[in-house]
Amino acid sequence: MIREEKQSLLRNLPSIDQLLQLLPTQQLLVVYGRSLTIEALRHTLDRARQTILKGSDTTRLVTDEDFIESAQAWLEAILAPTIRPVINATGVIVHTNLGRAPLSQAAVAAVQAVSAGYSTLEFDLDSGKRGSRSVHAENLITKITGAEAATAVNNNAAAVLLMLMTLCQGREVIISRGQLVEIGGGFRVPDVMAQSGARLVEVGTTNRTHLRDYEAAINENTAAILVAHHSNYKIIGFTTEPSLTELAELAHRYNILMLYDQGSGALLDTAPYGLEPEPTVLDGLADGCDIVCFSGDKLLGGPQAGILCGRADLIAQIKRYPLARAVRADKMALAALSATLAHYATDQALTHIPVWRMIAYPLTEIEEEANRWAARLRTSGIDAAVVDGRSTVGGGSLPGTSLPTRLLAVKHSDIEQLAVDLRNHEPPVIGRIQDDLLLLDPRTVLPEQAETLLKALEIYCAKRET
Ligand SMILES: *Cc1c(COP(=O)(O)O)cnc(C)c1O
Repeated sequence: MIREEKQSLLRNLPSIDQLLQLLPTQQLLVVYGRSLTIEALRHTLDRARQTILKGSDTTRLVTDEDFIESAQAWLEAILAPTIRPVINATGVIVHTNLGRAPLSQAAVAAVQAVSAGYSTLEFDLDSGKRGSRSVHAENLITKITGAEAATAVNNNAAAVLLMLMTLCQGREVIISRGQLVEIGGGFRVPDVMAQSGARLVEVGTTNRTHLRDYEAAINENTAAILVAHHSNYKIIGFTTEPSLTELAELAHRYNILMLYDQGSGALLDTAPYGLEPEPTVLDGLADGCDIVCFSGDKLLGGPQAGILCGRADLIAQIKRYPLARAVRADKMALAALSATLAHYATDQALTHIPVWRMIAYPLTEIEEEANRWAARLRTSGIDAAVVDGRSTVGGGSLPGTSLPTRLLAVKHSDIEQLAVDLRNHEPPVIGRIQDDLLLLDPRTVLPEQAETLLKALEIYCAKRET
């Protein structure tokens, strides 16, 4: 393109002021506000200018309406939330990348109720005076676990750090080499211990640590024995580790603390559902641990939180420690946690907490649901069948064990594209591809999401096959 031509195209571009006068722009101003709308128009004009200078695509007449349309598209993209609900059809129940535990309806309602207005977060209605935020989840935790005292913080990583800092700083903590692991997302047990100012004393070997290894390491500077649960890995073969009971007995004989990072927050036995038995929080306390800490959003099935429970004098010390303020739980987490714990207190966890409902979802009912999905899709001309598969608990829990399930298997000429389309749907549907089939597990799809999932499949399968 010759220079004069470019110059004339550039001269003909509208100015921001001209665009601002147009009626459709007035609507953008109402919805998006003045400064962001102007930024969008400027961005759009800049892009048009660059296109002209590059000399490409100038045959098309660019109208003012085109400018406004692309400004609107820019505004929508800028403001679209990056954290959005998705439909999890992966069959991974506590999916670390998909937000871990979905909340129960009661927990969602509790969050809504306390966050839309003011609340008794730190207010005592009886006295009309300042109250303590720490009362909210504590009573239920102690009631359910039988622990003397409890407190809730931001997450379990914070709970471990706070526990070690308060109780072990400047002193030694004994841990088995088999537990010096990375839990996930960069949470490494040795790093957290170093951060806490406690001195790590490693004993035993990766696969075998004996009670006598712990005993030999105890000296006058030892503060505690720490056991970190094998949440996300398994050591199999020639292995041994002393039981919690043995370790607690040893610790107390030498007048040091027994600390247990239980991790998952399992309060119910996993064995009846065909999973490997996972030591529960209650087991940890019954075995004599002084403090047990765990996550709120793994097998507990509640909000992100870290919970510490155990000896009242130690919990009191932990709550007074300055770092406690920096890692405290917020009102929404406390509301959701209390509502979640109430399900346990009333023996309704299995029916009301999504994570447990999914774990306990009977295979016959999953099969019925998968068959219903397949039949419905076949009437729309989609090549769908039901196949055997496995669901996993995920979230760094119960490694190596899975639950039998029935999967919806969709065949399609361009399976990769179908998966992309489903991810771009609103809400996105996340499944997995295996052997050229798209596999969707009904176990992790919430009942109210099934229809949306089926409609999405109907849209994209039809789109590609025609
Ligand atoms: C998951 C886990 C943690 C970290 O808990 P977050 O709630 O993710 O901070 C720490 N320890 C163990 C044993 C865990 O399983």
